[in-house]
Amino acid sequence: MANFPVFNRALLALDCPACGGSCDLSQPRSVCPSCGRPLVARYDLAAIAAQTPREALGRFGTDLWRYRAVLPFAPEFAVVRLGEGGTPLLPLARLAERLEVAELWMKEESPNPTQSFKARGLVMAVNGALAWGRKGIALPSAGNAGSAAAAYAAAAGIPCRIAVPDDTPEAFLLEQRAFGAEVRTVRGTISDAGKLIAEWAPSPEWWNVATFKEPFRLEGKKTLGYEIAEQMGWSLPDVILYPTGGGTGLVGMWRAFREMFELGWLDAATTRMPRLVAVQVAGCAPIVRAFESGEERATMWEGAVTLASGLRVPGPFADSLILEAVRGSGGTAVAVSEHDMLDAMLEISAEEGVFACPEGAATLAALRQLRTSGEVKPGERAVIYDTGSGLKYPEAWRAALARRAGVESAT
Ligand SMILES: *Cc1c(COP(=O)(O)O)cnc(C)c1O
Ligand SMILES: [Zn+2]
Repeated sequence: MANFPVFNRALLALDCPACGGSCDLSQPRSVCPSCGRPLVARYDLAAIAAQTPREALGRFGTDLWRYRAVLPFAPEFAVVRLGEGGTPLLPLARLAERLEVAELWMKEESPNPTQSFKARGLVMAVNGALAWGRKGIALPSAGNAGSAAAAYAAAAGIPCRIAVPDDTPEAFLLEQRAFGAEVRTVRGTISDAGKLIAEWAPSPEWWNVATFKEPFRLEGKKTLGYEIAEQMGWSLPDVILYPTGGGTGLVGMWRAFREMFELGWLDAATTRMPRLVAVQVAGCAPIVRAFESGEERATMWEGAVTLASGLRVPGPFADSLILEAVRGSGGTAVAVSEHDMLDAMLEISAEEGVFACPEGAATLAALRQLRTSGEVKPGERAVIYDTGSGLKYPEAWRAALARRAGVESAT
C-alpha cells in the first residue's frame, strides 16, 4: 500500500450486518471473513459533521466527489474519475398530473460515464482496488456494470475481465471491448456468469468487483441518496421507487439517509425517511416474492426472463440488506408486467422527452400500480429513476414501438 493515507480518516471499519463482525482496512477486504456475507462501511459521522457542514460541499465540485467527506478515500489519494454523478433530478409535471401525485421527479442517470448509474459504484470499486494494490479486476455483469468497470479499468491502466449472458445487447460488448476488457459470454443469467468468473478470473490475482462482493460499490451508489436530498433542498420525498437487481442503490440510499440524519444534514424534526420501493419485473422478482411471504432471505428465481437486463438478477447476494431497507423504511416491493414496462418506456419518452431504459421505465409502471392500490396517495411526492440510456436496448425499444404500432393499427 502507498506510504500516505489512502482511506478517509473517518472511515472506521467495515462491518458485517449479518454476523455482527467487523474488520479494519489494513488489507484487501471483499466479503466478511467470518461468514462470507456483504461488508458495509462505518464512518465517524460526528467527526465528519464537525469538519464538513453541508454548506461547505460546494468546494468539492458538482460530481459525486462533492460528497467526498462521506466516501472511502483520503484527500491525498488521487482518485481515478470520469465525471460520475451530479445528475439531474427532473420534474415530470405532465406525468405527475396524469398519475395524480403532488410532485413527481425522475433521477436521470444516463448522463453518467458509460451512460448508466453503474458508474457511481464502479468508480469506487476500481479506486478501492487501486488503494489495496490490486492488479486487475473482474466481474459478472448484465451489461452496464461491465461497461462501467471496463471504462474505469482503462482509466486506471489495469486489466478487466467480464462475463455476461450471451443475450446481452451487443452495444455493451462493443463498448467493453473498446475499453480493452476481455469479455466472455455464457448461456444463462448473471448467476451463471458469476460461476465463470470464479474459474476464469480467480482471486487474489483478479479483484472481484461484483455487486456486494467488495464494500465500495455500495458507497458510490449511496451518493444517489445524498444528491436527491440536496437537490430537494435538504428535504426528502415521501416515496422512492428503485429498479432492483442486485439492490446496491436501494441499500445505498437507505444508508445515505440515515447517515444524513446523524450528520445533521437532514433535520429529523421536519423530515421523514422516504418509503423505499423495490421495483422488479414479473419475469424475475425474487425480492418481491420474499417480501410478500415475510422472508428475510430470497430464494433463487428459476427461469428468469425480461428485456430489462439489469433486473434479471435471480439470486441477489444482498437479499437480506435489501429486504431490511424496504421494511425498515415502511416501503414495499412490487413486480410489474413486461408489457406495462414497455408501455412506460413509450410514455416517458413521448410525454417527457427522455429515452429511458426498460429498468427505469419499470419504476413508472410500479408507481401507477401503487396509485391504483392506494399505497401512494395523491398528496405525495414521489421519485422514480431512469438508471441508464435506452440507446443500449434496441430489442426492448423495438418491442415497445411494435406495441404502439399494434395498438394504433387496432384502433
Ligand atoms: C444494474 C442496473 C439496475 C439495478 O441496479 P441494482 O443496484 O443492481 O439493483 C437497474 N437499472 C439499470 C439500467 C442497471 O444497469
Ligand atoms: Zn459476517
